[in-house]
Amino acid sequence: MARYTGPSCKLCRREGTKLFLKGSRCNSDKCAFEKRAYIPGEHGNAKGFRRRLSDYGIHLREKQKVRRIYGILEKQFRKYFKMAAKKSGITGENLLQFLECRLDNIIYRMGFAPSRKSARQIVRHGHILVNGRKVNIPSFLVRSDDEISIKEKSRGMTLIQEAMEASTEVSNYEWFEVDKDQFMGKILSIPTRIQIPLDVDERLIVEYYSK
Ligand code: SF4
Repeated sequence: MARYTGPSCKLCRREGTKLFLKGSRCNSDKCAFEKRAYIPGEHGNAKGFRRRLSDYGIHLREKQKVRRIYGILEKQFRKYFKMAAKKSGITGENLLQFLECRLDNIIYRMGFAPSRKSARQIVRHGHILVNGRKVNIPSFLVRSDDEISIKEKSRGMTLIQEAMEASTEVSNYEWFEVDKDQFMGKILSIPTRIQIPLDVDERLIVEYYSK
């Protein structure tokens, strides 16, 4: 599956907010957005330069922000939107639920990887089991009661060990539980909108695709 391979920090600067794409670096003083909180490019920091967004631009930026947070290219993101629109319920919430239930996101949320990008790599390299069976598809959608675990042989990986040591937010989530000693987690339910810690207005994305 194709993916964005350009500089991650540029995306934060483009969206005008921290998207937390680089793990622990994002919370350090090395964060590029902390140093240069302006749009990349020749005029990004020019005196008097202000970003004036049209109505379309506001909708577009919100869509791009979410797409970049989850590291998904446009074609696949649009596919998620279509799935969300077909499903009963609120389309915006459905969309975020689909994104949250991706296996790479779950690995990141459970604290087994420092970022979604690393999580994708861990999944792709075959280090993850879902209900005891190897799954190497980052876009795999988990369901309630699914058990996610790290393959026994992979538990010593520095990337995974360091991420688990650094992860402190895991217990904040009510929709899954993690047993760090067993290198596994369990999905308790599909998250509701309020359980998804994302400062975005998904209604703007729905309006963007509905125009
Ligand atoms: Fe964004 Fe993280 Fe880079 Fe900061 S370090 S600009 S939050 S990706």
